[in-house]
Amino acid sequence: RMRDALQETERLAREFRAMLHQRRGDMDKLEQDSVRAGESGLDPAEVVRLLRATFSEVREQMDNDAIRVGELTVTDPLTGLGNRRAFDSALAAGEAAWKGGTALALVLFDVDRFKRINDQHGHRIGDQVLRTVAEVLRRKVDDCNRSLNDEAEGAGECASVVARFGGEEFALVLTGEGAQRAGEIAESVRAALESVNFAIRDGQGHVVEHGVRVTLSAGVAHARPGMAEPLADALFDLADKALYEAKREGRNRVRVVAGPI
Ligand code: GH3
Ligand code: MG
Ligand code: MG
Repeated sequence: RMRDALQETERLAREFRAMLHQRRGDMDKLEQDSVRAGESGLDPAEVVRLLRATFSEVREQMDNDAIRVGELTVTDPLTGLGNRRAFDSALAAGEAAWKGGTALALVLFDVDRFKRINDQHGHRIGDQVLRTVAEVLRRKVDDCNRSLNDEAEGAGECASVVARFGGEEFALVLTGEGAQRAGEIAESVRAALESVNFAIRDGQGHVVEHGVRVTLSAGVAHARPGMAEPLADALFDLADKALYEAKREGRNRVRVVAGPI
């Protein structure tokens, strides 16, 4: 994990450097264009118009860079889901919303016996499995969001953030809905992944094994009055405990923290 994190940091640094380099080139061009416009002998109003247009182009590119940098810092490069940072800020935002009266639930997902998949098929296949798990999660959560928001119609939006917050660990932060709906979403993700028939391919793309199944377990918790502070930590611990129960009871199942919903 440490090696992965270092590689990721290196990749980000490379990308940022390339961006800065590009903008440096744009600045040089801006300087040349400005000098040329100034020396052109054109009507001053026309010179100002030209300069404005060139500056505004560079400004737009810099704005796009800022958006891109923002996205990169919250995206998990392997799966395209939110990363640990996205998860932390979603949970913090959920905590603030909950204090304002909005429901908050957390689901932690963990792929079952994932080490075996790596051991049996190698890390490259393991990574592909993680991408598929992420895709199933994304699709199910999108479906549920759509139906929840259709039902809510004006009764306040429900929002969710799905993230990969560790190696084979994923999380769903759900605001606007309690543990019951979060449990339903978790169950639909579990069932969807269970039915995926993985085909293992070699480097040339030839199928070398059919019918490989991958499952996950999930723990669900929701915020309630009287929970310890900080709420995000207390909620995480509860969901983690529920996940541990799901593992202990045999895996491939969802456990919701007992208590009023
Ligand atoms: P359990 O059902 O109890 O969760 O068992 P498990 O094997 O899934 O759990 P364990 O924590 O023992 O193993 C997790 C494995 O996930 C070990 C690690 O090598 C692997 N892993 C973590 N991150 C990555 C990754 O980015 N890619 C791949 N391929 N494997 C990863
Ligand atoms: Mg794990
Ligand atoms: Mg696991």
